[in-house]
Amino acid sequence: MEKISIVVPCYNEEESLPIFYEEICKVSKKMNYVDFEFLFIDDGSSDKTLKLLKEFNSKDKRVRYISFSRNFGKEAGMYAGLESSTGDFVAIMDVDMQDPPEMVIKMYDIIKKEDYDCVALYTSSHDDYSIIRKFFTNCWYKFIDKLSSVKQVAGARDFRLMSRKMVDAIVSMKEYNRYSKGIFSFVGFKTKWIDYKTPARVAGKTKWNFIKLFKYAMEGMVAFSTTPLVLSALIGILFCLIAFVAIIVIIVKTLVWSDPVSGWPSLACIIMFLSGLQLFFLGVIGMYLSKAYLEVKQRPLYIIKETEKDK
Ligand code: UDP
Ligand code: MG
Repeated sequence: MEKISIVVPCYNEEESLPIFYEEICKVSKKMNYVDFEFLFIDDGSSDKTLKLLKEFNSKDKRVRYISFSRNFGKEAGMYAGLESSTGDFVAIMDVDMQDPPEMVIKMYDIIKKEDYDCVALYTSSHDDYSIIRKFFTNCWYKFIDKLSSVKQVAGARDFRLMSRKMVDAIVSMKEYNRYSKGIFSFVGFKTKWIDYKTPARVAGKTKWNFIKLFKYAMEGMVAFSTTPLVLSALIGILFCLIAFVAIIVIIVKTLVWSDPVSGWPSLACIIMFLSGLQLFFLGVIGMYLSKAYLEVKQRPLYIIKETEKDK
């Protein structure tokens, strides 16, 4: 029998976890033609998440868990899960039921029948988002599409079922600054996209806020595009050209009409504008440099405190 690993990153999810476990068990009963492995990643939770996982594990040997020494973020959780999964197919799911376990049946069906390596979900309409978040999300996808050569589906979720080959390809990408949406797309493979309206969280609350989302977006940009660096060079050249033309105009004006250009205020404005631009692009370079710095350090993506094998 083939085996499906369900990788579930959890961070303070004591409320959602039992609901999710019950649902995924129902799904596994319906899919009695495959084996299952439920691999929960406790991302340094401070509530009863780990305790619940231990309970599940003592009743149900399909349940495995990896508990981190602190909160490392969902990206690290997903990586740890993919790395230690053993299934022929691997699904990544949120524990809050926003990725309905039922969908796994359909996804597995499609992978088996239609010769895909991956089936993934995306949401085309975000009715539940605030207007501001909707606006920024739309802008972001348009922006990253222009900037990066790696294509990203707008509204893509992390929820997907992947073949072992694809999982191995993802695990082979050991970069420290992880932006999975880009990585999934970078490794290629045939992916079927299903439009699915994401339901609301079943319990608990989201760990995202505007600042975290913004940082994540920047991470995605730096990780999958070097266009901002090229852009800064191009703008630099453009300003040099403008300055060159302006110098010639001033020289000619002074020599031919003996009319030196006056104007302190305009000069002050130009200097301020240009130094602002320089600092801005210095910041852009700094962003790339800081990512390279973290990459060079080769710190581990996560640190394990305990797993089911330590019990
Ligand atoms: N999560 C995690 N570590 C974190 C934040 C979130 O493992 O630092 C997990 C969380 O428990 C959930 C999933 O990642 O299973 C998605 O989180 P959330 O629901 O907050 O994000 P959203 O669905 O709003 O994008
Ligand atoms: Mg969620």
